[in-house]
Amino acid sequence: MTHILHRTIHSTLPVAVRGQGIELFDAEGKSYIDASGGAAVSCLGHGHPDVIAALHAQLDRIAYAHTAFFTTEVAEQLADRLIEDAPRGLDHVYLVSGGSEAIEAALKMARQYFVEKGEPRRRHVIARRQSYHGNTLGALATGGNEWRRAQFKPLLIETHHIDPCYAYRYQQEGESDEAYAARAAQQLEDKILELGADEVIAFVAEPVVGATLGAVPPVADYFKRIRAICDRYGVLLILDEVMCGMGRTGTLHACEQDGIAPDLLTIAKGLGGGYQPIGAVLLGRHIFDAFAKGSGFFQHGHTYMGHPMAAAAGLAVQEVIRRDGLLDNVKAMGARLDERLQQRFDNHHHVGDIRGRGLFRGIELVLDRATKEPFDPKLKLHVRIKREAMARGLMIYPMGGTIDGVRGVHVLVAPPFIIAKQDIDRIVERLGEAIDAAIASAA
Ligand code: PLP
Repeated sequence: MTHILHRTIHSTLPVAVRGQGIELFDAEGKSYIDASGGAAVSCLGHGHPDVIAALHAQLDRIAYAHTAFFTTEVAEQLADRLIEDAPRGLDHVYLVSGGSEAIEAALKMARQYFVEKGEPRRRHVIARRQSYHGNTLGALATGGNEWRRAQFKPLLIETHHIDPCYAYRYQQEGESDEAYAARAAQQLEDKILELGADEVIAFVAEPVVGATLGAVPPVADYFKRIRAICDRYGVLLILDEVMCGMGRTGTLHACEQDGIAPDLLTIAKGLGGGYQPIGAVLLGRHIFDAFAKGSGFFQHGHTYMGHPMAAAAGLAVQEVIRRDGLLDNVKAMGARLDERLQQRFDNHHHVGDIRGRGLFRGIELVLDRATKEPFDPKLKLHVRIKREAMARGLMIYPMGGTIDGVRGVHVLVAPPFIIAKQDIDRIVERLGEAIDAAIASAA
């Protein structure tokens, strides 16, 4: 008997009682390797002593001060730190409590920017199909996952979607990466022109698409082309790095590897590593200046924004990552994870694609490798894989609906940055067994 409205009603969850390093333990004493950091959150694993110490110290100083009355040292320090390492041109930070809040704030910043600049006609947001930007109404409207949007459609603001850059499914036979990048990016220009170049506010995209597509990186040059198209029409580029950012792909920001910087960048998850709920929007100087010279404020706000405990967690997590050189480990262990996944699944009849960057890897499962035909969605293969993995003491992040919100299955692997070689091997071994058992149970 529970009084919590859990994510699913007719299943019983184990009770998590303790976390240490890369493992979580339930009330029965069973351990689970956290190979997905929950949902790509726990970048330092669990129970990190330095983060815990920083949280204790902050609690002793001050737990909460409303941001309409005060700023706090810890929030200022975190903002300084984030801007020190920010992509080119981003120089202010708006602190919130999670990814959806970050997206909502970024959308409103983009709209207010054009109002301040005397371009109130700009109202359209363009994003990509099969992206996930959060579950609040603005973020849900922006996301392109049909299944998540369907029943709430009557409540969603008008948004427009183009295809993701998804080479496994959309790159044509014999088409070069350059040609595919050009074709995929052209969809943005076409959409801007269709809507009216002076009526579009922003294009929103995840540099490496996470939850709903399974760690899909763009082909080379795609984002350079996207940046150029946005610049040509004065459209703001909002990059959503809530899942793929803060080191997950081996560089602090995923977009560094694409050689571009956005106008607005959303981060969350790995920012606080799960030690506190925290998200942020990093905004360009031009946006800040438009607010500063215009109305003098950004018309938004939440009770818990800039929360000192959340800021303390974010600061401590980022401090540890830098101090311990953990991005080097993300690169090295990411390469090993890729290698092990390739070895284990390269000849697997039902693994169509293995992809990703750093410690952000995805596997797409198919019924038939040659035709890329997906499994019947009724089999709920992703649910079976998760069940089999949990039974084997492994947390991974499988999802259905990869192709169009209904068809397709992928598994996301996103272990903590502190992971060691032998742990990678244990993860791949258990993952292989779980996938085989799930497919056998669905046959
Ligand atoms: N954006 C992306 C890319 C995400 O992956 C998520 C969550 O998975 C969100 C936004 C929403 O974040 P939150 O669940 O913290 O609201």
